[in-house]
Amino acid sequence: MEHSTTVLVTGGTGFLGTHSILQLLQKGYTVRTTLRSLTKKNEIIDALKIGGITSFDKLSFIETSLTEDKNWAEAMKDCTYVLSVASPVFMTLPKDENEAIRPALEGIIRVLKAARDAGVKRVVMTSNFGAVGFSNKNPNSVTTEENWTDPNEKDLSVYEKSKLLAERAAWDFIKREGGSLEFATINPVAILGPSLGKHVSESFGLLVHLLDGSMKAFPQIPLNIVDVRDVAALHILAMETPDANGQRFIASANGQISFPEIARLLKAKRPDVAQHVSPRVLPNWVLRLAALFNEQAKHGASLLAINRNVSNEKVKNVLGWTPIATNEEAILASVDSLIKYGIVKTD
Ligand code: NAP
Repeated sequence: MEHSTTVLVTGGTGFLGTHSILQLLQKGYTVRTTLRSLTKKNEIIDALKIGGITSFDKLSFIETSLTEDKNWAEAMKDCTYVLSVASPVFMTLPKDENEAIRPALEGIIRVLKAARDAGVKRVVMTSNFGAVGFSNKNPNSVTTEENWTDPNEKDLSVYEKSKLLAERAAWDFIKREGGSLEFATINPVAILGPSLGKHVSESFGLLVHLLDGSMKAFPQIPLNIVDVRDVAALHILAMETPDANGQRFIASANGQISFPEIARLLKAKRPDVAQHVSPRVLPNWVLRLAALFNEQAKHGASLLAINRNVSNEKVKNVLGWTPIATNEEAILASVDSLIKYGIVKTD
């Protein structure tokens, strides 16, 4: 399809950002992407080449940061849509919580203000499942987009909190000052799937620790996973679908998969790289006991309590989506990328 609609993708260097650009170019959109340093432009081009793009006439780049006003008006010029993907993704505990949250929180407001002022039609924000379901501890319920995580939820990581506060601030801005700007959010669970080169997201840490044997035993924690190709496709559907305005959408593959199931999957399907994957399952009562003394165990135990019965009905009904990848396929595609790009060694 050929059309002249321009879409701004923030954070083109990121795992999801590059996949989003790839799918937009494949659909014939003109794409502008923001990056913190133009020196990273070739990394994006190389990744898109891996994805099969051969012509870059419809792609342009602009240097911006979530923490500065510079170039945002320029970035939005003539754009019909914005995919607001950029946000700091970190798993380590920062020294200063507020400093870590600030770029996400200020960044989305900066994006929304610039989009509104430039007459953009719709912004689709990449939020997070952590903004939806971390306070739902009822195992007999289903978590939907109606749920909101309580910002005072104990054991909410600083990263999850940054996403939650940013999404809340965004909805608040749209209500008070958004004018005619349309807005929707995609709230993905852990994103895995194939990478377009050496860069993978922090979410791959889970697989890396399983494969290198640093995770000695794992609890029966069910996980929700979604493939990056599905998340990118959902952003575009949320951008194109009229009824998506004003909505949040959970992005999750069907069902769940636990750590021990992932370990068994790797041993069965990728035995060459799974020699170090531990077969040991940690009984949940041991984890709960250890949580009394150990911070990491405490975090693990808190994850046990979160209801992982997550609905993806809304994306199917409103956006007409069917996932292209199962949990297993997303995991195996990630492992294949880790091997292909030498991030995890096979010996
Ligand atoms: P990623 O590869 O680390 O991408 C993060 C992107 O944000 C990069 O392009 C990064 O740019 C940019 N960024 C970070 N801080 C910035 C700042 N201060 N100013 C401008 N840009 C900045 O991670 P990802 O997994 O693709 O994450 C993309 C989005 O998905 C994020 O909003 C994340 O919260 C969300 N998400 C991810 C997951 C997951 O499991 N991975 C799950 C739910 C939601 P640099 O290259 O310059 O660092």
